[in-house]
Amino acid sequence: MEAQAGNSRSRSASAARRASSGDIPARIKHLILFSDAADAEERVRVDRETRAALASWTGPGSTADGTPVKILANVADGDSARLAADAPVDGVGLFRTELCFLNRKEEPSVEEQAEIYGQVLAAFGDSRYVVVRTLDAGSDKPVAFATLQGEENPALGVRGLRLSFGNPALLDRQLDAIAAAANQTGTETWVMAPMVATVAEATQFAEQVHSRGLKAGVMVEVPSAALLAHRMLEVVDFLSIGTNDLTQYTMAADRMAADLAHLTDPWQPAVLQLIAITAEAGKRAGKPVGVCGEAAADPLLACALVGMGITSLSMAAAAVRPVGARLATVGMDACEEAAEAALAASDPMAARAAVLRVLDAVQEDDVVRRTPPPRPTPSPWTAFAGPHAKDVAVGANGVLWILATDGNIYRWDGTQFQQVPGGAKRIAVDPNGRAWVVNDGGEIYRWDGSTWQLMPGRALDIGIGAN
Ligand code: PEP
Ligand code: MG
Repeated sequence: MEAQAGNSRSRSASAARRASSGDIPARIKHLILFSDAADAEERVRVDRETRAALASWTGPGSTADGTPVKILANVADGDSARLAADAPVDGVGLFRTELCFLNRKEEPSVEEQAEIYGQVLAAFGDSRYVVVRTLDAGSDKPVAFATLQGEENPALGVRGLRLSFGNPALLDRQLDAIAAAANQTGTETWVMAPMVATVAEATQFAEQVHSRGLKAGVMVEVPSAALLAHRMLEVVDFLSIGTNDLTQYTMAADRMAADLAHLTDPWQPAVLQLIAITAEAGKRAGKPVGVCGEAAADPLLACALVGMGITSLSMAAAAVRPVGARLATVGMDACEEAAEAALAASDPMAARAAVLRVLDAVQEDDVVRRTPPPRPTPSPWTAFAGPHAKDVAVGANGVLWILATDGNIYRWDGTQFQQVPGGAKRIAVDPNGRAWVVNDGGEIYRWDGSTWQLMPGRALDIGIGAN
């Protein structure tokens, strides 16, 4: 296969040369062999077409029949915002402000905070918009100057907006800083609160944000917020569903617990029902309802979410093209059919299969109507044209994941993921398409859609079994 732009153009070029000369790359240890040459060729052709579609997708987000869907990026600071600004996105759907302060012992002044937020806003000053999330300190994101110490159960404790109950000035100062950054940059700025559980919380937050001249929203991460979405929307301008926490709290399963990965799956029927309730409330109110959790980065699920009425999808920059390109192939009718199929399924695997059946049928239909593309000249070898491969794994839908000698993880569709801390040694992909990695020190990391999450325990090797 032709060169994938990894982080080294020269290595890519030499690998591409090897590919065209028919050499087998000397250091590849694992290969996937297809005994049927025609099948292998067909897979290569489909893979080429998919990657070409990804590369040529330049936004803006919409379904095949023109329903607009905002495709947005999740960012953590000025650097990640500037990178994301080069991607075909309509803006930022989740700026996780707490990530700017993980190493800070003292709360930064309003002026310093405004400067930090301003870096993110300035990257999107060109008529795009940024959704800033107020501090989600606590639980899995401890911030020294905000998080309460010694809580017995921090995931159910004083995290996110709840910190402002005992320390209202902390939120006031952050809102002042966000408003100052919005004024200085002129960027359209929306502000939302994490971990909102009641309409009273949403009402008070919205008043504080509106009084500073900004759009106000809340995250739907707690099941109570989903069930009361219609009432929340009477007081806020928009909702954003954090499927990572919504799944954790709906399924009563710690999102960090590796043993519970089958429960912390946004395809769980109960989670899908809550998303559908929230999206329906948005449609009725005529207000935007987005998804900014990991679910938005799954191209298959994204189509079903849009079918439910979700108006924006926010994700790690690496997922933007796969999601945008997939959505562009599916009409709104098919998205709605996919949503119905997912909601009718009895478990995550059945939901995924049902959506795939709906979308594949659409594509087969499309293929019948298209003139068949010319078949490429068969070639005996295809080479991943990044750095050398150290390990490979096959993920959902047959997508190949490659752990390269440069420490980066690549997906065969061209997506590159950031380095795993401590140098990755082995990789495996679970049935939800999430990569799991063991590093040289035996630590286990899981890709959560935007960062590598350190999981409990240590391992020498990793493998994912059936179920
Ligand atoms: C979520 O919970 O889905 C979310 C986007 O917030 P975070 O992952 O930062 O908790
Ligand atoms: Mg969350």
